[in-house]
Amino acid sequence: MKVYLDNAATTPLDERVFEAMKPYFLEYHGNPSSIHTFGRTVRSGVEKARKQVADFLQVAPSEIFFTSGGTEADNTVINSAIAQYGIQHAITSKIEHHAVLHTLEYLEKAGKIHVHFVDLDPQGQVDYSHLEKLLKIHENAFVSLMHANNEIGNITDIDMVAELCGQHKAYYHSDTVQSLGHAAIDLSNPNIHSIVGSAHKFHGPKGVGLMYLRADKQLAPFLHGGGQERNMRGGTENVPGIVGLAKALELTISEQETNQQKLLELKQYTIQKLKENIEGVAFNGLSVDTGRSLHKVLSIGLPGVEDNDMVLFNLDINGIAVSGGSACSSGTSIGSHVLEAIQTKENMGLLRISFSRFNAKDEIDYFVEKLSLTLKS
Ligand code: PLP
Repeated sequence: MKVYLDNAATTPLDERVFEAMKPYFLEYHGNPSSIHTFGRTVRSGVEKARKQVADFLQVAPSEIFFTSGGTEADNTVINSAIAQYGIQHAITSKIEHHAVLHTLEYLEKAGKIHVHFVDLDPQGQVDYSHLEKLLKIHENAFVSLMHANNEIGNITDIDMVAELCGQHKAYYHSDTVQSLGHAAIDLSNPNIHSIVGSAHKFHGPKGVGLMYLRADKQLAPFLHGGGQERNMRGGTENVPGIVGLAKALELTISEQETNQQKLLELKQYTIQKLKENIEGVAFNGLSVDTGRSLHKVLSIGLPGVEDNDMVLFNLDINGIAVSGGSACSSGTSIGSHVLEAIQTKENMGLLRISFSRFNAKDEIDYFVEKLSLTLKS
């Protein structure tokens, strides 16, 4: 049996998404910037996708920009907003994705900004009063606090963050790569200035993402080139990817209620099975709190594990894909900066289990059975 439980790393492509993309690989091959009919046909595919995405997010099409993924989108917003608004202080948390953390650290090393970390409680929740304190000391700051965490699933109250940012004239960017299509995001909130998404996290293709940039906070480009994306992002558009992203978002949002119910049931079932079969199992962050975390992410601690990689390896031999923390590009196991920043029980193995609508309960039974055997061996 093959069981894929690493959907926070990436999700399988939905066949309906593939069908929507196919003509843009095989039939419509013009460059969207060309003015002949070939080009114009493709341009209309891109603009239709933009309009669809904007409608789903209830924003204007002119506020949506396509990128090569979440990383590029985060880099663009961080670099451009800090440069454009002459920002000197950035406020973030130690559990942000590296697309945010490494970019801010890079700018700090280059002497352009000072980075301040907001306190987190032992479960990784933002301490809002500390955030307010930092905002008061550093007016006009750049704030990057994610909506949902990729390792522990914690959901941050972005409306609360936005309100505080509004009071202290901060630019507020939220990395919503994990939450887009999974949790409600109200972009009518005037103090949320930018969010980002990535298609491969919601059954779309890899290598395509988006930025929402609020109309009254438009930024200068980060990638300079041919003036694509209304001068905001140079580079010929990944047209099949963009069409796929829009289709995947359409499916995720239109089927959200059913899918979220399914994910919730899978998560609750997994928690129950783990408690029944693995003595001393622990749950990290807020991931066991289904009201305050993504339904798709469960982070667990395993007692008596000396070699986490061996557990992952044994599960892999049995056809089961889970993660030891977050996906690492080199494939090697490195400590998780997220779990280091929060309180976890000591001397425990760590697994991130992440579900998708394509998982079923018998896969969970198989996973728990093999995990239990691995721990006993
Ligand atoms: N932000 C978060 C929270 C993520 O989980 C990821 C991917 O894991 C990214 C950003 C980067 O997205 P991409 O893989 O599209 O570059």
